Amino acid sequence: MKHLEEFSQVVRQSFDYARQLKKKSGKKIVGYTCSYTPEEIILAAGAHPMRLFGTKENIHLADSHLQSYCCSLVRGILEEGLSGRIDFLDGMVFPHTCDSIQRLSDIWRMNIPFGFHLDLVLPVKLDTPSAQDYMADVLKKFRTDLGRALQVDITDEAMQKAIITTNAIRQSIRTIYELRSQHPRLLSGEDLYTVVRASMIMDRDRLVTLLAETVTELKAKAGREKEDTSLKRIILAGGICNHPNIYPMIENAGGAIVWDDFCTGARYFTEMIDEGTDPISRIAGRLLNRVVCPAKHVDLDGRALHIIRLVKEKNARGVIFLLLKFCDPHAFDYPYIKKSMDEAGIPVMLLEIDDPIPAEGQLKTRFEAFLEML
Ligand code: SF4
Ligand code: SF4
Repeated sequence: MKHLEEFSQVVRQSFDYARQLKKKSGKKIVGYTCSYTPEEIILAAGAHPMRLFGTKENIHLADSHLQSYCCSLVRGILEEGLSGRIDFLDGMVFPHTCDSIQRLSDIWRMNIPFGFHLDLVLPVKLDTPSAQDYMADVLKKFRTDLGRALQVDITDEAMQKAIITTNAIRQSIRTIYELRSQHPRLLSGEDLYTVVRASMIMDRDRLVTLLAETVTELKAKAGREKEDTSLKRIILAGGICNHPNIYPMIENAGGAIVWDDFCTGARYFTEMIDEGTDPISRIAGRLLNRVVCPAKHVDLDGRALHIIRLVKEKNARGVIFLLLKFCDPHAFDYPYIKKSMDEAGIPVMLLEIDDPIPAEGQLKTRFEAFLEML
């Protein structure tokens, strides 16, 4: 893939990349923690949205503020902040989703000396008659607060342009996922992970071009691919997946990951923003209608039904559920999902992961055993 090295470099050296981008473009860098952040408003402010994924370094500074039974994502992001490694950030945005992110927000406000701090107090229940108005009001306030922090006027025109950009990005990633679902050998799971992760870090205008060219390249390659019926097609599901080395382990065991339900994967790009005139209510509409995370509430079985639909649509044989250790919302969701999968006759494997992930041999054996059963 022509642009893979550029995507990989962005992921490998994301902080250097952000520092360079800031220096060259003069753009303010706004960090965020969760896929419920309205990137469009940050882009419309002329700033650069950058998702943080925690650290692979040893976590010790964060331990003085957070219990060790918080997920490694939240502890890792705090570690990056306390260590000063991300002091290039001009501000941080915290959408109120799970309890851990909300507590991270409080600790950040009181302990991190650089950049502004903004909370985004989203509605918890997303399917009530008042949720649309409430969500739109929260986004309006965010637009005002962000404009004030960055000292810019965020115009409707800039919002319309940002929506076109994010829709183009989401559409390209969706097309890449679909091509790969039809031809799993088109690119490896690890490479796909790299593309999606880079998409949450790199300059979005450059990204639109790179993704469009990647789609063209993969479409041409897909035309030459032969169908491989020996692969065991599976769906990955869970909260966030921060572990690219899981993909080759599954693929080497004979599996093909044909879709996912991660907030660092498909939940990031599902749902386009509708056509229309009022940008705020259109962004609100997407946040309400996208595939829900268990830190928000719609109904008891919506997510399970979504995963069952994915299994059928993508012709998958089973689901591997990756649960980040100490992630309460996904742990509470799992029994309902498992029950629905059992009723639908879909095999599920649950794997609790943390940083560092268990030894490769141990995981390999578990993946092989599950895939053999399918
Ligand atoms: S799983 Fe959902 S709530 Fe949790 S960090 Fe990801 S996007 Fe946010
Ligand atoms: S939803 Fe789970 S993984 Fe995401 S920040 Fe909250 S506890 Fe961590």
